[in-house]
Amino acid sequence: MPELPEVETTVRGLAPFLEGQRLTAVTTFRPDLRRPFPADLAQRLTGATVTGLSRRAKYGVISTDRDDHMIFHLGMSGRWRTEGGEAGKHDHLLLETAGHRLFLHDPRRFGSVDLVNGDPMTLFPAFVTLGPEPLSEAFDAAYLARALAGRRAPIKAMLLDQTLVAGLGNIYVCEALNMARIAPTKPAADVSRAKLAALVPAVKEVLIAAIAAGGSTLRDFLSPEGDLGYFAKDWRVYGREGEACECGGTIARIVQSGRSTFYCPKCQR
Ligand SMILES: [Zn+2]
Repeated sequence: MPELPEVETTVRGLAPFLEGQRLTAVTTFRPDLRRPFPADLAQRLTGATVTGLSRRAKYGVISTDRDDHMIFHLGMSGRWRTEGGEAGKHDHLLLETAGHRLFLHDPRRFGSVDLVNGDPMTLFPAFVTLGPEPLSEAFDAAYLARALAGRRAPIKAMLLDQTLVAGLGNIYVCEALNMARIAPTKPAADVSRAKLAALVPAVKEVLIAAIAAGGSTLRDFLSPEGDLGYFAKDWRVYGREGEACECGGTIARIVQSGRSTFYCPKCQR
């Protein structure tokens, strides 16, 4: 599933194709993904000029000079195909400019496309309740201490709560908790201020490393011929049950809220 780093890399990868470009045609090849495409998508976007691309949580935003903002989510298997040609079986949306044909390719169709006129940060329902971006200055130890005060849920579950911090997924939470040496099962309110101070840079570091890795595999990511997967393969704990943690402990797997948690019982307390 594309997570924050993959979406960030997608947005950066699309920018050279779209920024400052006029959309000469917009075509959908089916009525819906996870939900219907906006009925007036093609009408509102065709002829508009793309003024910028951005990301919020795991959504990409393509903004136009009409103050329309197309918000896409890649779901489980979405990606943008940039090499042009004709629409294939799993290409569901086509954005055309004078020089390029960009297909939104999504075999499992758990993705979505929405259109908002005006500031999407305040008008798009999914954005309104989101917590701060993990790479922003607003996400710091003081913020976490305030947000987690009195919360008895496990720290891992809290970090996956999009209203606490936006866009963190299972893998990156497991990795950051190992880096900060925090047990994923620890009640959030019991994590010490010192550990929170270690957690914040750990979260940022795993995301930045994944985004950096993404830059080198951008071509694969944007193409359906490539193996999407995740950019970083050398996880500290994720998927490594029974292997050694860097502290010498043995990595364990437990299930929390129906999802696998990988951690080291020796150094994560
Ligand atoms: Zn360890």
